[in-house]
Amino acid sequence: MNINERILNFIDILGDLDDISKKLYLESPETWIDFSDKVSEQNIDEMVLFYASKYNYVSVLKFVNENKIINLDGPSRNKQFSSIRNHLIAVSKDYNSIDTYNYLIGNYEHESTSKMEKDTLEEKQNINSYTPVFLCPHCNSNVFENGYKVFEEISYNFSKEKNKSQEISRQRDSRVFCCNCNYNIDNVSVDLLENLCSIHNCKKCGKDLTEIGIDEKIKMKFNDKDKKFTSSVKTYNCPSCQEELTEYQAKYFNLI
Ligand SMILES: [Zn+2]
Ligand SMILES: [Zn+2]
Repeated sequence: MNINERILNFIDILGDLDDISKKLYLESPETWIDFSDKVSEQNIDEMVLFYASKYNYVSVLKFVNENKIINLDGPSRNKQFSSIRNHLIAVSKDYNSIDTYNYLIGNYEHESTSKMEKDTLEEKQNINSYTPVFLCPHCNSNVFENGYKVFEEISYNFSKEKNKSQEISRQRDSRVFCCNCNYNIDNVSVDLLENLCSIHNCKKCGKDLTEIGIDEKIKMKFNDKDKKFTSSVKTYNCPSCQEELTEYQAKYFNLI
């Protein structure tokens, strides 16, 4: 049964809340404390919904909405917005969270989204259609299509209070494996693969081109007739590793 077919219980969204919590911990440990307290008290408020929208976890929105825990059309604590829904729509748009955005506007079709908002989202969806490429050195499959995997080591011990085993630590292994052939791809990290997913980043070294800039290169060819170098081909390259931008990136940055 999928998420659209039934009303969710708190226990159903715990896994997603846990995922949000992990992301938030890396982003802002202080906010994370606040967030974790709310989750442990089962107190889902606008702040929790903010992060659910930011990280695109539609289950959490669906849970509060369908169990009538929060009226999404009620006033937002952020006075810039006329309702919680509008606040979350803005957050979803800012962070390109397509699922939460669609959920929030899908239940609200009578209040039409302005054309500009729709255009912006369509633009973002187009950007999403960009598929990065990283070829497995062993089987040559694109790991962004066929998948890559990492392992997590979870340690447990026995809790006398709870009378059952409990998780005491969790550590992610830094190795990356190709899902297609199980090869251990040793020249790549999860961080680099994540960086490659953004069209802003160099597809070889993963650096953010909007931060480090782009080199424009003109290849000069020697012309035998008049004994002069003349320019022939112009390319755009990453200033850090000299990798040429893809055609898709060059178009995205309005270079061609
Ligand atoms: Zn492979
Ligand atoms: Zn580069």
